Amino acid sequence: SSGDRLLSSIKFSQSQPSTSQTTSIRADSAIISLVRNEELEGILSSMRQLETSWNSKYNYPWIFFNNVPFSEEFKTRTQAETEAECRYEVIPEEHWDVPPWIDPSQLKQSMRKMKSKGIKYAGLLSYHQMCRWNSGFFYRHPALEGYKYYWRVEPDVKFFCDITYDPFQFMADNNKTYGFTINIFDDPGTITTLWPETQSFLKSHPDYLAADNSLTWLTDRTLRPDHTDAANGYSTCHFWSNFEIGDLDFWRSERYQQFFEHLDQSGGFFYERWGDAPVHSIALGLFEDNERIHWFRDIGYQHPPYINCPDTSSSASSGSGTCQHCQPNIFTHSWGVMKEDCRINWFRQMCQSRRRHGR
Ligand code: GDP
Ligand code: MN
Repeated sequence: SSGDRLLSSIKFSQSQPSTSQTTSIRADSAIISLVRNEELEGILSSMRQLETSWNSKYNYPWIFFNNVPFSEEFKTRTQAETEAECRYEVIPEEHWDVPPWIDPSQLKQSMRKMKSKGIKYAGLLSYHQMCRWNSGFFYRHPALEGYKYYWRVEPDVKFFCDITYDPFQFMADNNKTYGFTINIFDDPGTITTLWPETQSFLKSHPDYLAADNSLTWLTDRTLRPDHTDAANGYSTCHFWSNFEIGDLDFWRSERYQQFFEHLDQSGGFFYERWGDAPVHSIALGLFEDNERIHWFRDIGYQHPPYINCPDTSSSASSGSGTCQHCQPNIFTHSWGVMKEDCRINWFRQMCQSRRRHGR
């Protein structure tokens, strides 16, 4: 398929992590997780996976965030999964509470309307709050002061392959801002006015657009399964943000902060059900150069129902180690199997950017 062809052309040109086994750890990097006390078993499972495949060699701290205090059981049992330091942080109310400019009756009405349309999580207020926090607040939590790189981990995710290098160091060595594993289309019903709001922001800040931006990717709707433009110009293709390895300074930048404030004031985190994934992705696509965004093709990862399963036949060149419970060919066979998969759009953008810069 054209997807396979595109992939193989990228395979050999993408800068690959070195396989050196250094265990020097960076003092400015941490694993972070927003999680509920009730999700203890799920986060223990995720921790076990990441500790076994990677962090037991590096011992980066785990920083857990919650809108309510963590239970003693949560603290004891998570700490027992790692030799690294665990920290337990409560989110300040002013970062979590529904902001005062949200009208309670309009909120109730729009939540009911979205719920009746079958929009996932639309009727769950805490989900809206979570998406808003992940969009505009996590990087401002005092516990992350002095940190630069973070790896976001959710409950019940899987890491299939041994990771034989330090992705944080890789980010620094290669001047990367953001790393992802999975790219999918979103439900346009959750973000109907996100792109129009983005355009109104861009109109007053045209200088924020990066020279090597990914606008083509953000607006390429040709592969959308429904072939509609229900998201008003945005393809809805986004980096699936339950996995993120990123540079906190990008989110702390003035341009992103202003963008977030603009979106937040419009009320779309509540009157619609904007996810942090499309918000992050749009910002990265607009304000960051394409080459500073990295697909961690070698990190075997699953957050149900989607999977990034490395092709281990090329493990020698990709730097990834052994993979468990992950069929090597799932990735290449996933074109068309997962109709929401839009990685191919990202590869197209990468090729375009590289051509543009003669790389
Ligand atoms: P999904 O991945 O979109 O299905 O949503 P999840 O239910 O996995 O939520 C995304 C992340 O936010 C997970 O890490 C959850 O543990 C966390 N999360 C969601 N809602 C809340 C909440 O109300 N409080 C806390 N502390 N964490 C939450
Ligand atoms: Mn999840």
